[in-house]
Amino acid sequence: MIEKTRAKTFTKNPIIGTKFTIAVSSAKGGVGKSTFASNLALALNKQGCKVGLLDADIYGPSLPKLFDINQKPESDGQNLIPINKYDIQCMSIGFLTDEQTPMIWRGPMVTSAIKTFTQKVAWKNLDFIIVDMPPGTGDTQLTFSQEVKMDGVIIVSTPQELALQDVKRGIKMFDKLGTKILGLIDNMSFFLGDDGKKYNIFGEGAVKRTADEFDKEFLGEIPISPEVGKQGDIGIPIVQGLPDHLISKIYLKLAEKIKKIYF
Ligand code: ADP
Repeated sequence: MIEKTRAKTFTKNPIIGTKFTIAVSSAKGGVGKSTFASNLALALNKQGCKVGLLDADIYGPSLPKLFDINQKPESDGQNLIPINKYDIQCMSIGFLTDEQTPMIWRGPMVTSAIKTFTQKVAWKNLDFIIVDMPPGTGDTQLTFSQEVKMDGVIIVSTPQELALQDVKRGIKMFDKLGTKILGLIDNMSFFLGDDGKKYNIFGEGAVKRTADEFDKEFLGEIPISPEVGKQGDIGIPIVQGLPDHLISKIYLKLAEKIKKIYF
């Protein structure tokens, strides 16, 4: 699939209504990609940016649950109007479908859904759109990288070797497609005990080593914390619900760093 991209030149359209589009990707499901994307969006907003969050995981949308959004977006006759929550403009296929409906879609249908989300949504005056990609190296990543002007991608991983094998594939894919990798995040990196000690449950340093191996930036570690899961479950991500938590502070620092890259 990637080979074909060399022969064909694609027109990359910017998403109308935003200055910069940043994707959050992961090689595997369950590493905390959607949690990361939503908290990063909120942290950028707290750094004074206008932010949109596009849940591009057509097969497994998370945004309705993570932001506790149960309403359907309205249309202005031409475009879908994003749903505003926590001062973030949000769009997800999950707003349009029943929570339990499986999305049994073929590749071309995914491509056309992505076109709708990038060209037919009335995003307004945004500094950033954070795109929560599905896991893996499939149609969505390919369509975005070929047809949408992407300003960067952040790859989220956990430290297990099994996850990292796929991360390497992901890095190579984005490199070949010419999408700039802003860096790698080591999520659920360690557990901070009540004794103040770091417990490296899944091993230590493997995400950073992978970043070094491919000459990519290592953007940092996010520890495991039960509060992250709890906040996700009640639809108020940790940065919004517990802004003074250690993890929220990590997100705010990261958002500051990302803002500085572009502004
Ligand atoms: P993905 O988008 O990669 O499939 P999710 O964002 O849905 O992953 O996260 C998977 C699960 O892991 C969720 O229950 C989420 O709350 C939890 N999780 C994510 N990051 C952390 C963390 N740093 N500490 C604890 N739990 C986390």
